[in-house]
Amino acid sequence: MSNSPAGTPPAPYDILFQPVAIGPLVARNRFFQVPHCNGMGYRDPSAEAAMRKVKAEGGWAVVSTEQVEIHPTSDITPFIELRIWDDQDLPALARIAGAIHEGGALAAIELCHNGLNSPNLYSRETALGPHHLPVASYGYDPVQARMMSKQDLADLRRWHRTAVTRSMSAGYDLIYVYAGHGFGGIEHFLSPRYNQRTDEYGGSARNRMRLLREILQDTLEAADGRAAVACRISVDEGLGQAGLGRGDIEGILGELGELPDLWDFVLGTWEADSNTSRFGPEGEQEQYVAGLKQLTSKPVVGVGRFTSPDVMVRQIKSGILDLIGAARPSIADPFLPEKIRTGRMETIRECIGCNICVSGDFTNAPIRCTQNPSMGEEFRRGWHPERIRVRGSDARILVAGAGPAGLEAARALGVRGYDVVLAEATRELGGRVARESRLPGLAAWVRVLDYRQQALGTMPNVEVYRESRMSADDIAEFGFQHVAVATGATWRRDGVARWHTQPIPIESGAGVLTPDDLMAGRRPSGSRVVVYDDDHYYLGGVVAELLRGEGFEVEIITPAVQVSAWTVNTMEVGKIQRRLLLAGVTLRTSAAVTAVGAGKVTVASTYTGQLSEAAADSVILVTARLPDEELFLDLLARHERGEIASVRAIGDAWAPGTIAAAVWSGRRFAEEFDADLPSNDVVPFRREVTQLHADLPG
Ligand code: ADP
Ligand code: SF4
Repeated sequence: MSNSPAGTPPAPYDILFQPVAIGPLVARNRFFQVPHCNGMGYRDPSAEAAMRKVKAEGGWAVVSTEQVEIHPTSDITPFIELRIWDDQDLPALARIAGAIHEGGALAAIELCHNGLNSPNLYSRETALGPHHLPVASYGYDPVQARMMSKQDLADLRRWHRTAVTRSMSAGYDLIYVYAGHGFGGIEHFLSPRYNQRTDEYGGSARNRMRLLREILQDTLEAADGRAAVACRISVDEGLGQAGLGRGDIEGILGELGELPDLWDFVLGTWEADSNTSRFGPEGEQEQYVAGLKQLTSKPVVGVGRFTSPDVMVRQIKSGILDLIGAARPSIADPFLPEKIRTGRMETIRECIGCNICVSGDFTNAPIRCTQNPSMGEEFRRGWHPERIRVRGSDARILVAGAGPAGLEAARALGVRGYDVVLAEATRELGGRVARESRLPGLAAWVRVLDYRQQALGTMPNVEVYRESRMSADDIAEFGFQHVAVATGATWRRDGVARWHTQPIPIESGAGVLTPDDLMAGRRPSGSRVVVYDDDHYYLGGVVAELLRGEGFEVEIITPAVQVSAWTVNTMEVGKIQRRLLLAGVTLRTSAAVTAVGAGKVTVASTYTGQLSEAAADSVILVTARLPDEELFLDLLARHERGEIASVRAIGDAWAPGTIAAAVWSGRRFAEEFDADLPSNDVVPFRREVTQLHADLPG
């Protein structure tokens, strides 16, 4: 598609670039980066500012913060969000708002009192909720919330009001009242699940929405027409009669529909709202949101992992949304609006719906993204999603292996202007990403390949060769002086991973397969299969799902307490157990396969060591991987002999990890090529260190 002149978006997408009035504000278009966590927050505010600024530059009309805790009774430690507890927090918040404005967008702040969701592990203040109930946090924190008294409610309203005033002084244009995702304490008052009060704040629907009404009114009053007010609200808690549902939200809109300047509709748990592509399609929220816009005259924003401009246009034209909300699509491609505006649809880096971004928040680490390796690195390493330093020499570079690491290295080196040869051993590009995307539920992951393949196709300076397995001799013969080895890794077939760090006994003739075998099309012999998962990310569960779907009797055995235990960080762990159980897969947790025999495996309890057996005609070992580093080691030896100028292994060939880590590694190679790097004694990125308080007590 040809580029449209600046300012004239191509039809039919021009509708996406119509300005939208939000109370006293005008959004320049319909693209709205809704609040999203990022694992940086109060610890890394400049990093967050730089990240948000890039979004604003990329064309989003509104760019929001994540939830901002308004008071020490709303402390969701260990999660790292933003805080507006007092004026000390304002410089950080002002820096973020300022950066968003510099990028050309309106700045929104999501004020939040987490109520029943805050264990207050840092502040040690008493948690506050509608009723005496254990906190509804992610850990089983041994904390109970106290039922809020009238005084507590008056305090909460005052804290929220003060936070509104502070937000405006920090430069925010749009102030959120948060009653969504099971996080906002106001939602706990709305929800019949949590609100068991018998006073005027509980019981009838009108009573349950009293607190929301009061806080919206307070916020509007404090904003005084100088800032817009948004209400983010759960439209369905997924609990049927026991929780918020269609009747409730229709009732709320009937009563309060005209109060805020904007409605932001979300689902009642974050897990449901930020569903992964493995468990739900783009636009999944439509079934819950359709029809609500008609109950208010105020603009409506909602999300749906929207990456397709056609789907966005349909959302607007069919009267479902006024503003296209996005968290993940704006993470995967901060320039998504600009690319649509200038008619460069094919260059959109589409979110794959993997929730690696969410894992940053869950692990208290800066956000990362499978598709966008610059996410979270804008400040500390100076990376940008669209721009990269031009080449520093006339070097010609060979990238061996076209998995996610090799593809990204070749792409980014190509953008820098180097002459690049990307050589792939097989006929297919994409490496593990192409193979894994053919497994159940992972089809969208092929976008990691699609985006890069498209980009490489436009670069005359990058040549791609398939069916070209490179040896060190080939490389010498072709005269390459600089090589990135991206040859990947191979799943082990000896049981070594976390539980066993030495090979386990495997009887000769026992049917043992690895994920590589399955992805190459091989299948177990017999009907009874044990999947031994000591990897703990997605693949063990996916393999079990694959084989069960093909009719095998499948038992999955894992030393962890849940299958695919790490997916707690991508909010999939519950969905995975559910899907496997409903499919008839047997789950055996806290157990390790200790030996593989013909027709059976020996299993030890990880707690007691007690042994048992499981019938198995075949065993799939989803354990650890070994880097395919033969080529790298050969080239390294040649480099040490002075025969080749530089060689580096990247991605899984260096250290097997996630697809996100491989893409990032490819980007890092391209960023650092020809750079004058300091020694590795030096911290390789900028960081923000807490300023010491003026004095110590005593
Ligand atoms: P990563 O995740 O690090 O990108 P992958 O395993 O996905 O790793 O991809 C590695 C790719 O490298 C595979 O497509 C594989 O076929 C290819 N490959 C392996 N050895 C060679 C080689 N010697 N020359 C070229 N390509 C290779
Ligand atoms: Fe999308 Fe995955 Fe990136 Fe998150 S990490 S934005 S889900 S591609």
